Amino acid sequence: MNIDHFRFDGSKPFKISEFDTKQEGNFKDREEAEERRDDHINDLQGLQERLYAQGKEGVLIIFQAMDAAGKDGAVKYVMSGVNPAGISVHNFKVPSAEDLAHDYLWRAMKVAPQRGMITIFNRSYYEDVLVVKVHDLHKKTALPERVITQDIFHDRYEQIKNYEKHLHDNGFRVIKIFLNISKKEQKKQFLQRIDDPSKNWKFSDGDIVERGYWDKYMKAYEEAINATATRECPWYVVPSDKKWFARAVIAEIVVSTLESIDPQYPEVSEERKQKLQEFKTMLLNEE
Ligand code: ATP
Repeated sequence: MNIDHFRFDGSKPFKISEFDTKQEGNFKDREEAEERRDDHINDLQGLQERLYAQGKEGVLIIFQAMDAAGKDGAVKYVMSGVNPAGISVHNFKVPSAEDLAHDYLWRAMKVAPQRGMITIFNRSYYEDVLVVKVHDLHKKTALPERVITQDIFHDRYEQIKNYEKHLHDNGFRVIKIFLNISKKEQKKQFLQRIDDPSKNWKFSDGDIVERGYWDKYMKAYEEAINATATRECPWYVVPSDKKWFARAVIAEIVVSTLESIDPQYPEVSEERKQKLQEFKTMLLNEE
């Protein structure tokens, strides 16, 4: 599968209306896609172990999507392949009073990845140019007048781009994944959540409210993605009506990012090798 097809790095425009959310790639069937996904998840284990051992680069994976697009499932699959010690997940909910008392990047910066780690953001500071834009929430917070200009979202795109560049230039890979579902598929998923008692908890009244703003959200996503897609910190727009396809694509994106880092176990010096042999002899000679 060619994931470049889904990659946006600023060299071509992203037009949401031209994007087919039902794509299944050229997999023979669902089973083949799941096998491929599992192969990638297997590869991920070794890559993550080396990333952790090397402790030089870190990886930030951002998931953004409309409700019921499969963010939680995607996070679960990425997590399933790796040693929990080397990965952390952060969910970005409605900001707390403490969050709002800071600049909007603060809560993300606090939990940015460490070297050797993979950090997953389930939603992120992109909410500050998505839900905030759709509902004009910035006008309801304690921002000074000079900040609430016509250009506030363009300013934020620049700030986000600069922040991500800063991370990249300091040894962290940033990949942004938009799970793109259709309005029709979201309806199907919501109905399942309502009909299946074991999924009722996943459905909240707010989900229906936000669905009412679908077109505004699509416009906000399109604008944010076009404004913040760069070669170093690309967006991947993943067709997500078929969850099995989306998961195979995501697994490949994550693996190919780690492969491009090509992490290696730290080299052991001759001196250290000798020391290890001395320890070995000591252990073997123990009573
Ligand atoms: P998810 O749908 O991601 O699984 P959830 O529905 O389980 O999450 P919620 O309690 O609904 O969890 O939290 C996510 C909500 O927080 C979303 O509606 C999101 O738009 C909102 N949110 C996140 N960041 C912000 C922000 N900066 N400003 C306003 N609302 C935000």
